[in-house]
Amino acid sequence: MSELKDFKCPNCGGRLEFDAKTQKLKCPYCDGTFDAEIFDEDSHCTVSTGSWEDEDIIVYTCRSCGGSIMADKDTAASSCPYCGNPVVMTSNVSGIYKPKKVIPFKLDKKQAKEKYREFLKGKPLLPDQFKSEATIDELKGIYVPYWLFGGKANARMWFDATRVRHWNEGDTLCTETSYYKLFRSGSVRFADVPVDASSKIDDVLTESIEPFDLSDGKEYTDNYLAGYFADKYDITAEESRQKATSRIANSTSALFASTTGAYDSCVPSSSSISINQASQDYVMYPVWLLNVRYNDKMYTFAMNGQTGKFVGELPTDKGKLIRIAASVFFGVTAAASIIQYLLMMVR
Ligand SMILES: [Zn+2]
Ligand SMILES: [Zn+2]
Repeated sequence: MSELKDFKCPNCGGRLEFDAKTQKLKCPYCDGTFDAEIFDEDSHCTVSTGSWEDEDIIVYTCRSCGGSIMADKDTAASSCPYCGNPVVMTSNVSGIYKPKKVIPFKLDKKQAKEKYREFLKGKPLLPDQFKSEATIDELKGIYVPYWLFGGKANARMWFDATRVRHWNEGDTLCTETSYYKLFRSGSVRFADVPVDASSKIDDVLTESIEPFDLSDGKEYTDNYLAGYFADKYDITAEESRQKATSRIANSTSALFASTTGAYDSCVPSSSSISINQASQDYVMYPVWLLNVRYNDKMYTFAMNGQTGKFVGELPTDKGKLIRIAASVFFGVTAAASIIQYLLMMVR
């Protein structure tokens, strides 16, 4: 049975949200703050069950306003579309879906908006839609589910390297090329190698805003999700394992290649890397996300909710480009006529 939970302020009954600035649960009505690590969920949260569900969609009733909250079966945290009441779908964050750790949001929506506006600066050809307040307000704080893998890589790598020396003998330029066969062998321990566990968010996007610092991670409680969005994993640890293996292999090769020293050229010729994955953990990491659909294409801006590192792609408005090109052309022709006029005056 799918269950929904919301967060009531013990002082005034208002809705509580996790506040990134103070790292506490905060009530926007009475300004009460509560420690998110120890806030007693059982005595202050109400739990209700889904009122209707099929394979993909579950409908809950908001305890605050009575409105219907429609959620995808993977949704783990959301808010009521009518009154904004933050809710957590407890069935998607308990049992096998309970994250071991969560990195709470460090940067709030205001800071995410500032970063986005900075990103738009100096881009005159940008369609207005990207700059509108309504679009910017769509920025969403999302906890992305990740698998973390740990283990050990044993590697043996061979490299072909050269050193080249030039000197002059009389009028003749002499060149000597020395060839080397290099060998490196060793083992590397890996911890917390992340793999995005949600199929709904592009892996390239999540990888480009890494790294996250897990030393700031907290024991998971639902309190951190209050006021944000989250999905449970829909890619299993087993399905993610291969991806972690290739990330570990690539990092190992890069690490070994960095130890070869000063040669004029050095290329890997062969390698054997065996990887033992020993541990796996399930965590949630904070990401600010904005999707803008323009000319049938989706443009995404994403920011690491812990460090502020961001990536984004923006289009160019072709209409604006033509208008700007036209005004430059007009400017040039106008200047040319004035010069011609001045020349006529001189004559
Ligand atoms: Zn309150
Ligand atoms: Zn509501």
